[in-house]
Amino acid sequence: MRNLLPPAVLDAFLRVSRVASLLRHWRTHEKSYNALIRFSLATLLAVLISRVSADSIEAYFYDLRIWLKPPVATSGAVEMVLFDPTTMAQLPGLPKAAAHLKVAQQILESEPLAIVYTFDVSKVEGSSDEKSALAELLKNQIFVIADEDPDFTSVGKEKLNNPFKETAISPAPFTRDNKFGGKDGVTRRQMLYYHNTWMLHQMLAAKINPEVNDLSKIRGHFELYQAEQTNVDFHRKGSFQTSKFENIFNHAMDTTRFKGKIVLIGDDLNEDSKRYILTPYDRSVNAMTLTEMHANMIDTLIRNSAPVKAPAWVNLLFTILISVLTVHVVLTVKPGRGILILLTTAAIFVFACYIAFWPFGVLIGMIHPMLAIFLCYYFFIPYRLIIENRRSWEYFQKHKLLSEVETLKTNFIGMMSHDLKTPLARIQGMTEIIARGTTPLSAPQSEALDTVKQSAEDLTRFISTILNYAKIESQGVELHLQSCDINELVKDVVKKSEFLAKLKHIQLLAELEPLFTIRIDPELMKQVLSNLIENAIKYSPENSKVLVTTDEIEGKIVVQVADQGIGIPVDELPNIFMKFFRSNNAKSSPIKGSGLGLYLAKYFVELHQGTISCESSPGQGSTFTVELPLLN
Ligand code: ADP
Repeated sequence: MRNLLPPAVLDAFLRVSRVASLLRHWRTHEKSYNALIRFSLATLLAVLISRVSADSIEAYFYDLRIWLKPPVATSGAVEMVLFDPTTMAQLPGLPKAAAHLKVAQQILESEPLAIVYTFDVSKVEGSSDEKSALAELLKNQIFVIADEDPDFTSVGKEKLNNPFKETAISPAPFTRDNKFGGKDGVTRRQMLYYHNTWMLHQMLAAKINPEVNDLSKIRGHFELYQAEQTNVDFHRKGSFQTSKFENIFNHAMDTTRFKGKIVLIGDDLNEDSKRYILTPYDRSVNAMTLTEMHANMIDTLIRNSAPVKAPAWVNLLFTILISVLTVHVVLTVKPGRGILILLTTAAIFVFACYIAFWPFGVLIGMIHPMLAIFLCYYFFIPYRLIIENRRSWEYFQKHKLLSEVETLKTNFIGMMSHDLKTPLARIQGMTEIIARGTTPLSAPQSEALDTVKQSAEDLTRFISTILNYAKIESQGVELHLQSCDINELVKDVVKKSEFLAKLKHIQLLAELEPLFTIRIDPELMKQVLSNLIENAIKYSPENSKVLVTTDEIEGKIVVQVADQGIGIPVDELPNIFMKFFRSNNAKSSPIKGSGLGLYLAKYFVELHQGTISCESSPGQGSTFTVELPLLN
């Protein structure tokens, strides 16, 4: 071939044949390739979706889970002392250094684990003597610098103004999600460790739960802005034991309750929004005091109960799984069912996320998988529509073709049968003339003439069956009802069939009960009866018996044709009324038939609102029963 063809042509030929063989290969493995393509597309989409930043909605769903979580008891190790507008009315005014001194002395007498001021205590008003006395008392205590926007460079080096220079202070910054996460100003995180310094919350919590001295053991810690952080496991507002400042000031309460506790002293004045935070539970301006926020942060570490974020790969895995499922459902399941499956999947996923969060405290990202359901659905629905459209077009074309063929066939059968009838009638006429002729026929001649006559009759019967069938298939059959005595019809048909029975020495008997006349189409009913009686004779051996009975039972006229013939195998019994059906024992016998007789009989009986049924034992005989309602 190399010698015959130029290399370029040869190369082109090879390429084409390679593409052709690839196409052939594609066709045979089309289903698996389609599945692979779908899977890859869904995965690609999932990866793209998981790159979409959805932090603010994610934060909303985080808050929702917190909100739905049943309340959990606090550690009981943290208590609050608050001064509020009532305190100001009683003292009166803001507590001065002397008031703080009095209150601090009482609390310290009860030997608390720590006493914490959640505001800059060096700024309280009072004489320098009072301030010095307070500073002296608080020298070895711990104070909170509750600065919203701390100067991180000075973390650990803070100093209070004189005379509080010797007072122990610790950084306890807090954050509002303004640039990060929810970007809604809600406080969700707390800082643990920054610039080689533990924050106040950890230092206090470690006194009760030493486990949190080890950063790796603090649940849910993560690094952000070069600081170790974790989420706060918030309690609802008012969960911590709170005492009123003025009650301690007035000696109106027993302070021994503070023994061994961490006591936070702060304000709830409803004046400055900076002294309040928004929480996942509540976004109103004064949702929670800074003091209660610090209490929550310390308590989170004492219980070491911060929620743990699931690793990114878990979120990606969920997104991929849900994308693949969505694409599969959209492309293969019926639309209504598909939506149901996807809604159920979404519901199960949301429920699983909730269960992971509570009671296990694991935070699974919900937005990307949910987005995957939504996007994959809308991305693949048009694709599905195109496929469906193509399929229904193909189906329509096929159907059109089939119905055209069906009409052609029916017309053809009708025309053929009709055209055959005329020559047949002529043959029958001629045989009559010959039979009645004056010239006597020899024995073989008259036998031949009988055979011709018989065959012509068989053919006529066959043609009228086919004609009936063609009529039913094309335009249906109309009933021409008349009042009739069924017994008369039976007698008529029996009489006509006697000749057939005699040929096989079959005893054809009729036992007819007197009946009411009913309205039926006598022609159609005669066809039903002759089919049943002729079948009984046809499928019975010589010298057997065929019994036709009529009766009236429970408001119905019942006609039965019983024979002692070959019977019908049990497994074939349900099929005998189907068009063109012939049982195996009939097919293997020399008995001829079209398989249409019983189909027509059933059709005609049902037109009369009646029923037809058969009981049979192979080798012993069959009984066909027609039931017609008296009133129709
Ligand atoms: P066919 O022209 O073949 O007789 P029918 O529709 O009248 O068609 O009957 C359908 C099939 O039911 C027959 O082929 C035969 O297998 C079975 N059948 C009908 N009547 C009898 C019977 N009396 N005894 C045994 N088999 C019967």
